[in-house]
Amino acid sequence: MTSEPSVTRVGINAIGRRHQERSRDGDTGILIEGTSVRTANVTSERKRILTGIRPTGPLHLGHYAGALENWVKLQSEYDCYFLIADYQVSEYAHDLARVRNAVWEVTLDWLAAGLDPDSGSFVVESLVPEHAELTTWLAWVLPVGMLERNPTLKAEMEALEYPTDGKTKEKAVPVAFYIYPVMQVANILLPRANLVPVGADQLPHIELARETARRFNRAFKPIFPEPEALVGRVPRLVGTDGNAKMSKSRGNTIDLKDSAETVAKKVRTMYGGPPRRATEPGKVEENPIFAYLEAFDRDTARVRDLKEHYERKGVSNKELRNRLTSVLNELLEPMRQRRAKYEGNMPLVREALEHGTGRGRAIAKETMAMVRDALNLNYLR
Ligand code: ATP
Ligand code: MG
Repeated sequence: MTSEPSVTRVGINAIGRRHQERSRDGDTGILIEGTSVRTANVTSERKRILTGIRPTGPLHLGHYAGALENWVKLQSEYDCYFLIADYQVSEYAHDLARVRNAVWEVTLDWLAAGLDPDSGSFVVESLVPEHAELTTWLAWVLPVGMLERNPTLKAEMEALEYPTDGKTKEKAVPVAFYIYPVMQVANILLPRANLVPVGADQLPHIELARETARRFNRAFKPIFPEPEALVGRVPRLVGTDGNAKMSKSRGNTIDLKDSAETVAKKVRTMYGGPPRRATEPGKVEENPIFAYLEAFDRDTARVRDLKEHYERKGVSNKELRNRLTSVLNELLEPMRQRRAKYEGNMPLVREALEHGTGRGRAIAKETMAMVRDALNLNYLR
């Protein structure tokens, strides 16, 4: 993928009302180098994207800057499958009500952020059971050692077993958690995706998908493109507590659906670097408020000035917080308005899931027929 996706796009929503979207300027992201696609079966259609999110709660600024923003930009150029990965919520097995609710929350957040369900397909993973089927076959070709070495998986398991926040109880790691990377590989390979736009934490998983595609294609038939990862403008957004990653499980998020007041409060109380008087110079990289301004303030010249002042003479955190609050509310306000519109029309939201899942199922069946053929599994034919 070398061409810049357009920054202006026009979508038609499911009730046929045209609406214009302007997405934010800036880089598309960092393309992770990969070898060329080699497959005999991907035909002349648009190239495909598969990407997804687990339904475990509302989406936050990390999801947006790391992934979602790119999805919005790319949706008119690619045939997109946006997955709600409910098979992969094993650590929430005790709280399925939360998962059920989050399926709707995620869909609303997607619509609010500007994904167009007519252009891309919103797919619920478990309503396409071919995901589970392909996971089983792919488990044949993926060595356990590769899972054990996967740094993201290791970190997530450790966080489950040995939580560090003092509040969360430690949990045993369910088997489903151990195999979810295989399922993620199946998610990517099932629509025979070419590109996977994700945050940096997902890169080890994409590498697994590439390796699995290579192994399968070599051992059986060349069905699968080797998918490439596309990391968003902000590969890993810090949390409001200063932790390296904004994450639901750490409670350090600013959510896309947060009200203007909530955003103001979260920014007012977020970590602002080591204690410092307003007139005392500070180090930009020690203050996460700057990480957010860099990520979201479109007035880059102003951010540059603020940084310079901060390092030379000092700038009060109050001033930085005020600026950040207005920048974030400017970004989120149109999303809140779109969300409200869809919340008032839930049949339309349901329709988005139903249609998208139908499209996801169709391509899944096509791929599974190819896989069965490649493995020569059609015993009764
Ligand atoms: P969380 O990490 O908040 O607990 P999750 O693990 O359920 O959420 P995923 O489904 O793993 O969410 O993430 C969805 C997408 O958002 C992935 O592509 C992931 O890389 C990206 N993402 C999540 N958090 C961040 C972040 N803080 N910065 C950049 N990208 C992120
Ligand atoms: Mg995650």
